[in-house]
Amino acid sequence: MQVKELASGIKKGNRIALAKGITLAENDAVGASKLLAQMGPPGKAFVVGITGPPGTGKSSLVDRLIEAYRRDGLRVGVIAVDPSSPITGGALLGDRIRMSEHAGDMNVFIRSMASRGWSGGLSRATSQVIRLMDAAGYDLILLETVGIGQADIEVVGVSHAVLVILMPGLGDDIQVSKAGLMEIGDIYVVNKSDLEGADVMVVNLLSLFRGSSRSPPVLKVSALSGEGIDKLRDAIDRIRRSFVAGDDDLRLKSVRGMIMETARGAAMERLAVVSESKAEVLARQVLAGKTTIEAAAARLSA
Ligand code: GDP
Repeated sequence: MQVKELASGIKKGNRIALAKGITLAENDAVGASKLLAQMGPPGKAFVVGITGPPGTGKSSLVDRLIEAYRRDGLRVGVIAVDPSSPITGGALLGDRIRMSEHAGDMNVFIRSMASRGWSGGLSRATSQVIRLMDAAGYDLILLETVGIGQADIEVVGVSHAVLVILMPGLGDDIQVSKAGLMEIGDIYVVNKSDLEGADVMVVNLLSLFRGSSRSPPVLKVSALSGEGIDKLRDAIDRIRRSFVAGDDDLRLKSVRGMIMETARGAAMERLAVVSESKAEVLARQVLAGKTTIEAAAARLSA
């Protein structure tokens, strides 16, 4: 399919065209940028980043949120990014959602993306997939990722609202703050409220924020029973309403994040291509005392 045809298919909301466009974004940086050049500026879809440690119930909550928003007729895109499985190439995160009832809903589009090592391609591709789904007319994009470092930064950058998902028994609040999760969320969710310890977790989080300049909502929910999902939705919608009303700051923040992630991704991809053989030559020069590590690194990234 020609890029032009593909672009027009995506803009018409054709699912096969969208799937092809996403595959292009994953595999071919040049092809993808040609395709995206035909898409117009981003900005219609509201992007919710969902992060937190493994097993806290992110996928289960995504499932609940799809359900809640579909009831209102919104078209929902889901991107499940799993940076933890470069070896298997599998994307475990999305499996739970893929297997859910929503998988058959024509107004829900679910895509998992696995990292192929740390080449940077994932950062670029994630932004591009958001833009493709946006162009295809999805109103809401749920961007789910495991809360382990680099992927968080990316999610925070490109999302309009970030949910941090925690659960009882994660250890004390110190652990949460150590993981860098206290700075990044717009909404904090203590999932698994049906289990013991949820109240303590909420109190701990609230006291952690009391000493800071921020006071994001801390909500107790159960993806299992559905308890608290309405309140979570309300909290998301408070941010979404200002987005829909035309909040330029939110739009700017996300597009800025996309530019930065795309640039970062491109730089890393470039490095991954050149590094091995060139680094070998430079390493010999460093050992021979002909250059320094710093100068070698500068030459490698030039
Ligand atoms: P993720 O790794 O963060 O995406 O977590 P999952 O959604 O895969 O959930 C991890 C496990 O926790 C699964 O076995 C879920 O069934 C379970 N789980 C999710 N939400 C709840 C909840 O509200 N209560 C309880 N008891 N278990 C839950």
